[in-house]
Amino acid sequence: MIRKVKGTRDILPPESRLWAAVEAEARRIFGGLGYEEIRLPLLEPTELFVRGVGEGTDIVTKEMYTFADRKGRSLTLRPEGTAGVARAFIEDGLAQRPQPQRLYYIGPMFRYEKMQRGRYRQFGQIGIELLGAATPSADVEVLLALHEFLAALGFDDLIIMLNNLGDPEDRPRFVARLKEELAPHKHELCRDCQRRWDENPLRILDCKVDTCHAIVAETTPIADIVSGEARAHVETVAAGLDALGIPVQPAPRLVRGLDYYLRTVFEVVSPQLGEGTVICGGGRYDRLISDLGGPPVPGIGFAIGEDRLVDVLPQTFRDRILGTRPVVILPLAAEATAPAFDCARNLTGHGIEVRIEVTGRSLRAGLKWATKLGARAAVILGPDEIAAGTATLRDLDRGEQEEVSLEKLPAVLMQDGPEVPSRRLP
Ligand code: ATP
Ligand code: MG
Repeated sequence: MIRKVKGTRDILPPESRLWAAVEAEARRIFGGLGYEEIRLPLLEPTELFVRGVGEGTDIVTKEMYTFADRKGRSLTLRPEGTAGVARAFIEDGLAQRPQPQRLYYIGPMFRYEKMQRGRYRQFGQIGIELLGAATPSADVEVLLALHEFLAALGFDDLIIMLNNLGDPEDRPRFVARLKEELAPHKHELCRDCQRRWDENPLRILDCKVDTCHAIVAETTPIADIVSGEARAHVETVAAGLDALGIPVQPAPRLVRGLDYYLRTVFEVVSPQLGEGTVICGGGRYDRLISDLGGPPVPGIGFAIGEDRLVDVLPQTFRDRILGTRPVVILPLAAEATAPAFDCARNLTGHGIEVRIEVTGRSLRAGLKWATKLGARAAVILGPDEIAAGTATLRDLDRGEQEEVSLEKLPAVLMQDGPEVPSRRLP
């Protein structure tokens, strides 16, 4: 047996329905706010991520799927979406279009990580990017979009954590202060943090190791050190969200794993998954596009981890998507085949989900199969029904059946109302 690559997943039905429904909801909510889909290659030049995500990041130092193609070019399976969007923005001249540009993407990302629940080597992300607006209002809009999307899925317990990373100019001052405060405890920090000390000291702040966590908790928050302008920016964002009734929690030591963020950074955590398993991460990245050789265009965005999101979907949403029940069609004679397909065409045209029996089951076996599928009704087409131009409609919950003319079938099956094509499970 050939097995799937470690860290990849098969998303089987019916779980795949949840994925599709989540994506449909993303398209609806983000689309409503003017975001349009951008579909980008999964494969990019390695240099894009080295420069875009940052040389000292976990992604670039240890998580990329990088290989040489047949001509020896170094390619990488995209580990995240923003760098690709920035590349496309520059390469495709999106700066020439009306600003700002509102974009969303949905698709797989690849990172060579240690596999565990919620952590895979191929995983789905849903993200948006708002490019060409530097105001706090842009940040509020992006967080509103995030909040509306999560609310549409029925979440009411997710927490948006917000921090201010300041501007890149603030960083040396902060890092110096941080190291000064950490210096007496340097030897107590974990091995990873020893490495981060020189490579990426900001990342010490979000180390998950308990001892590091405790030491870091005593240090001065970055937001206390940032310039007045950056401080005012994020304060305005927080006030804007407050005015909309969108709850956010200040997270003074939240930093993100990507180098390009500045000022506003945020994460969404779920009480179900705990703080270590973040559902969504995002922030402002005003220098990314110019760092990649493009015009000085500011941006802000986020990426939601779809695997983790689907994992904690509210029961109400799961029931709505998974609770639909089909109608089975049982042709019981050779001459019933065409009428069965015709009937299927008719019912699906009315939004009624059907399953046609195509393996040659008897009536008894067909009804057993229907029950196993959780079907709500069976449309039985035997020789007598075909001769009469009717069907026997069997209600599989009540066990009752009646003779119905084929034209009336959709109306009878839609007695619950046309907006509820398939009755839900009780
Ligand atoms: P983490 O701290 O969990 O490693 P991250 O900071 O590396 O996350 P981002 O780069 O911000 O993650 O990606 C945004 C979101 O994508 C994450 O919040 C998470 O939900 C999801 N994600 C990241 N890496 C993985 C993975 N290996 N498997 C599944 N989902 C992931
Ligand atoms: Mg990570």
